[in-house]
Amino acid sequence: MKKNLFGYTLSALEDEMVSLGEKRFRATQLFQWMYGKNVYDFDSMTDMSKSFRSLLGEQYECVLPSIHTEQVAKDGTIKLLLNMSDGAKVETVLMRYDYGNAICVSSEVGCSMGCAFCASGLLKKERNLTAAEMIGEVLVMNARLAEVGERVSHIVVMGTGEPFDNYDEVSKFIHIANEPKGLGIGARHITVSTCGIVPGIERYANEGIQVNLAISLHAPNTEIRSALMPINRHYPLETLLPAVKDYVEKSGRRVTFEYILIKGVNDREEDAKELCERLAGILCYVNLIPLNPVPEKPFERSEPTTTRRFAEYLNAHGVNCTVRKEWGTGIDAACGQLRAKAKKEENHGQ
Ligand code: SF4
Repeated sequence: MKKNLFGYTLSALEDEMVSLGEKRFRATQLFQWMYGKNVYDFDSMTDMSKSFRSLLGEQYECVLPSIHTEQVAKDGTIKLLLNMSDGAKVETVLMRYDYGNAICVSSEVGCSMGCAFCASGLLKKERNLTAAEMIGEVLVMNARLAEVGERVSHIVVMGTGEPFDNYDEVSKFIHIANEPKGLGIGARHITVSTCGIVPGIERYANEGIQVNLAISLHAPNTEIRSALMPINRHYPLETLLPAVKDYVEKSGRRVTFEYILIKGVNDREEDAKELCERLAGILCYVNLIPLNPVPEKPFERSEPTTTRRFAEYLNAHGVNCTVRKEWGTGIDAACGQLRAKAKKEENHGQ
């Protein structure tokens, strides 16, 4: 089987070139063609000898996903359902902010974390995505944006899947994305979001590049969190928050807590109070997210006044927070919805 070149970090590709009896700079040449010029056909890489190009063609390939479905919302949000080479379907979303174009990358095909409010968890994990496939998500979106003279400027690994359940491939992906000769996206423009896999957070603290960390918290106490997120039974808040503190100390980076507001579940004043007490002393920022309701799930979005009051309480009690801008109105906005829909259609067709 041919190896997909998008799965190599620059240093791994240099080692690969040396193993072929070539000079290390061949890797830089390949990166320049693939990421600098978007040329993926070895025959067109004219600064390399014909014999080397044919050797590359025998052993390697540059494979990108194809677009299965595309939805574009009025606010410019683009949601793609991508076909991987084995037929696996993966969602990737582009959100347009004042500061740039942020892509939300999926890290697994399906997810087994079972968060009660999440559409992605409706379809269990089938497999990990490779670094090459995650790079593919960005490159396909870049090709789509090139039509309007733009490109992806920020990456959040926050789509379907738990990134730290697929640590090695996600780590490789981050390094290729951050590599100036690769996608060239600054570390501070890359965020990985975990539902709270503590060993992953500990490893991430030692990753050596200044990427951001976000924690899907969604609850002020263990009781509510365990009801919403089964991972809390393995890594309860009492274990998770010290690991986050440790990450902040080691990295010097502020951490983001994601908190989806769910009507009557985690949006009361007592929840806001408890949340402030929990987060006291942690260098952090809370991103309050209005719930995207999923028809198969029993949860409702908090009222706008409740959301506003919750945010005001946090800000007044020393916890910086904002309410996340709504995006993707009019399309299947909740993460995982488009993929679930396509699966349903496939099953009907069988
Ligand atoms: S919220 Fe994230 S971790 Fe939880 S089930 Fe959905 S995709 Fe998985």
